[in-house]
Amino acid sequence: MARSSAGPEIERLIQLLGRLPGLGPRSARRAALHLVKKRDQLLGPLAEAMAAAHANILTCTTCGNVDTTDPCGICRDARRDPGIIVVVADVADLWALERSAAINARYHVLGGILSALDGVRPENLNLDSLIDRAASGDVKELILALSATVDGQTTAHYITDRLSHLPVKVTRLAHGVPVGGELDYLDDSTLSAAIRQRTGL
Ligand code: ZN
Repeated sequence: MARSSAGPEIERLIQLLGRLPGLGPRSARRAALHLVKKRDQLLGPLAEAMAAAHANILTCTTCGNVDTTDPCGICRDARRDPGIIVVVADVADLWALERSAAINARYHVLGGILSALDGVRPENLNLDSLIDRAASGDVKELILALSATVDGQTTAHYITDRLSHLPVKVTRLAHGVPVGGELDYLDDSTLSAAIRQRTGL
């Protein structure tokens, strides 16, 4: 075991920070040191913000988003089109779409995608509640904003099958050239998807 140079409280902080995505042991140590140095400006406010989040955060029983109210702010927002539901795998995807301000719709967070390899089956995801929402009569379109992977496609096909008896239009995100992207940097499958899904100007 590596020799520790900090007290048990700081070691614990490093250990917990190291569990965050994208932070390895070295960067966790660096982040912990930064927090310790900025005790009043950063460590204190961060601890308070985390305690407040821990005490107040709920999962929306309608859409699966996280917020401090249930239903969440998005589900309660009357200015959003109730006829369109954007289906995402994870809350991070919902946040990304909200950041882009690309659409003013409601969401449904599946909590993952189907995966034979990882043993994720339909009953492990928020799929029944999605079918119930789609069957409610208000919903006209379901946009499947899932990753362009085999598992993402499997999940999209599964959802499309389960909705086939309902008068709901199912669409998915376009695949193709990223904005600002150079053609000769794209992989072959992205390039051929972009050709297949070409649009008029
Ligand atoms: Zn919600």
